[in-house]
Amino acid sequence: MAKLKKLEEFREEIDQCVKCGACRAHCPAFGAEKHEGRVARGKIALANALLDGEVEMEDRFLLDMSQCLLCGSCYAQCPNKVPTEEIVAATRLKIAEQQGLSTFGKGVATVLKNQGLMDLLAKGGGKLSSLLFKKLPDNSGMRLRFPAPFISSKRTLPCLSDTPFRDRHPEQIPGRAEQPTILFFTGCGINYMYPESGEAMLKALKFLGVNIIIPKGQACCGLPAVSAGAAETVEGLAEQNLAELGKHACDYIVTACASCNAGLGKIYPQLGEEFADYKDKVKDIFVFLVEMGFAEQLAALPKAAERKKVTYHDPCHLRTRGITKEPRQILKALPQVDYIEMEAAGTCCGLGGTYSVYHYDTSQKIGGKKANFIAESGAELVATDCPGCIMQLQDSINHAGGGQRAVHILDLVAEALP
Ligand code: SF4
Ligand code: SF4
Repeated sequence: MAKLKKLEEFREEIDQCVKCGACRAHCPAFGAEKHEGRVARGKIALANALLDGEVEMEDRFLLDMSQCLLCGSCYAQCPNKVPTEEIVAATRLKIAEQQGLSTFGKGVATVLKNQGLMDLLAKGGGKLSSLLFKKLPDNSGMRLRFPAPFISSKRTLPCLSDTPFRDRHPEQIPGRAEQPTILFFTGCGINYMYPESGEAMLKALKFLGVNIIIPKGQACCGLPAVSAGAAETVEGLAEQNLAELGKHACDYIVTACASCNAGLGKIYPQLGEEFADYKDKVKDIFVFLVEMGFAEQLAALPKAAERKKVTYHDPCHLRTRGITKEPRQILKALPQVDYIEMEAAGTCCGLGGTYSVYHYDTSQKIGGKKANFIAESGAELVATDCPGCIMQLQDSINHAGGGQRAVHILDLVAEALP
């Protein structure tokens, strides 16, 4: 039975916080709000006080705990490696356990657990797109025409497709016998919001002759439910995926979404022994492509006469897992790309799961800084490896009035291939 770690099991880690404050300068929530309750040591102190029965789950406490992007920037700077994002996530689970899920949390849990409902909402949204949404100039996305719960009418959304990615393809796409077999864990972002990035991934994999399996019954990885504190949903989705993915023999489970990569590669192995294999089997697409020698193959292509200036944004869920080199290696090898490293490429974009739902304006303050770094780099495109980051980056760029586009690196890879 999949079981998430409870707050009570984090006593040792909580005690490791020496309140040095080294995390403060690197916390995007603190940077935006300059409030001690936003920073890691403040949250750790609150979690500790909750365990000791010294604090109630009143409004102030709930607000402070909701003000974390689970970005892991504090962990990277912490001398004692205190996993604040895990402690905050466990505190949210405890809040939900005692007070029940928030209305938004209940909505997240219902939709994520029900693939049919997700399909229906996505297909309906795609079909009714012109009624529900207005297109933004330059095709950079769309915004809601009408007020809707939990989605700011100021938010740029991607144009929805009425045919999700997984509905477009058979479950098995054979490649060459000598090549590995990979299982493509599409995640919801690629399946519903950015199916063209999924198509781009297939193009790259077919170019290499890889054997591809796209399991029809795969579910959401569950990471949005971690952020919302919906423990049973996370555990249920993990078990569903374990059963579904286990039906297929494969060499690797490949993701093209940073959140799915962290969900499967980091959270699942903590859920129980039956998930232990995921730790080594789950690979980010760019790690896989680099291991396959794809960067060298791209670099051997003739350079394009007209090239694009492209910068890279590190998604938190890859950066904290040490995956920073490979996406850049692929980008730098592309024949139509002039790569530019932007300042603070590794800072959070401001999405943070439920954070941007509850605190959209602060999330935009954080995103605004990122949009400025993108503009200052002189790049016309910001490429990344996470559908959620693409949505947030494009939203931030649009608010800042920049003309840049946020894209998946895979979109650029497909463009370079014959
Ligand atoms: S979380 Fe780490 S960096 Fe932050 S105050 Fe505690 S020990 Fe210091
Ligand atoms: S996980 Fe990110 S937002 Fe949360 S306390 Fe750490 S640095 Fe701040």
